Amino acid sequence: MTHPETVSLYRLLPEEVDALISELGQPRYRADQLLRAAWREFPRSFDEFRQLPVPLRERLPKRFSLDPATEVRRVVSADGGTTKLLLRMGDGTLIESVLMQYPEPGDRHPRSTVCVSTQAGCAMGCVFCATGQMGFERNLRAEEIVTQVLHIARMLGERGEHVTNIVFMGMGEPLANYAETIRAVRLLTHPRAFGLGQRHITISTVGLIHAIDRLAAENLQVGLAISLHAPDDALRQRLVPTAGPTSVGDLVSVAKRFFRNTGRRVTFEYALIAGVNDTEQAATGLARLLAGSGVHVNLIPVNPTAGQFARPRRDAVLAFERILRAGGINCTVRVEKGAEISAACGQLRTDERNRLIAESEISPSPAGTRRGSRQEKLSPKPSQNQ
Ligand code: SAH
Ligand code: SF4
Repeated sequence: MTHPETVSLYRLLPEEVDALISELGQPRYRADQLLRAAWREFPRSFDEFRQLPVPLRERLPKRFSLDPATEVRRVVSADGGTTKLLLRMGDGTLIESVLMQYPEPGDRHPRSTVCVSTQAGCAMGCVFCATGQMGFERNLRAEEIVTQVLHIARMLGERGEHVTNIVFMGMGEPLANYAETIRAVRLLTHPRAFGLGQRHITISTVGLIHAIDRLAAENLQVGLAISLHAPDDALRQRLVPTAGPTSVGDLVSVAKRFFRNTGRRVTFEYALIAGVNDTEQAATGLARLLAGSGVHVNLIPVNPTAGQFARPRRDAVLAFERILRAGGINCTVRVEKGAEISAACGQLRTDERNRLIAESEISPSPAGTRRGSRQEKLSPKPSQNQ
């Protein structure tokens, strides 16, 4: 029997690998060996699967592919805490992933959080977000989400460190690519695959209500963050133009349901933009909206992109925080890391594209590097919530 189609090894859950290995007439422990090598050593080719007998190793590429990402650019912040990567997928699609490291007092290893992308571009069009301004290119497959973590795990492994947390906060709207996002979470948390604790994963969403309810029913212990950004519907619709009929009240209700059904408290993200949503009045409105809901608020001073939005002054951020606290709302200000390396979602790819476009005015750019150029931009529209 011929198998013209190979499947990515990093798309398959361990039970699916067991079935394929048994189809190849191999004992079950070969599946264990294959999985251990794949998910502990992050090989980039089948030659690196040294524990497997040579005849099997040679047959593997006929059924499986590994599809490692290609690193196009790496930018490290001055303090070394943030590393931003521009990665190329097999078909040339460019996406961003970020590693954020924080020293853990009394611990040998830093906390190493990987921020992954779930789509190339995004259809939601948030006005302050560089990815939103690119428009939507395509969904990433589960293996393309996973490969971002593996690329960074391999990089960390070389210096004796490991990935401790994963946040789905890179390019794209994870819950608009629901099935692939959930498959990636299962792969990243399965004890016979990447094996990270579910509680070490957070999914951030612009607030797709049905998908949040569906997520709550998945029996996963992942954290949820909802990007709110405004205390009322009129302002939210200006900032998140695809918010549509979803009201801020709906978002508070779904956060409460999520907590009831999973036992996990929801975080509301609020990108603070000078003169737009950082006023005293906005803070008071937000405190009133969230009173008694049990949610946590994460204030993120906006990372200025090409747009016209500016980060508030430090005293405005602190005043906003004080008003929320006085209203009994649990709240933190995100320490902004990596602003000088364009660490906000989508910025590096935008920078890279501008650089490539500038270069191509001197010499033609290589094939595939102009994907997603401005001419291909789609008008923002809500993605299907499959
Ligand atoms: N689409 C999802 C996840 C990716 S965006 C979502 O919107 O939640 C992850 C977070 O980065 C969101 O809270 C988003 O609002 C925020 N963000 C995007 N652009 C930003 C910028 N320029 N400055 C600060 N935060 C930004
Ligand atoms: Fe998409 Fe999130 Fe950016 Fe909005 S903030 S455009 S939902 S990636």
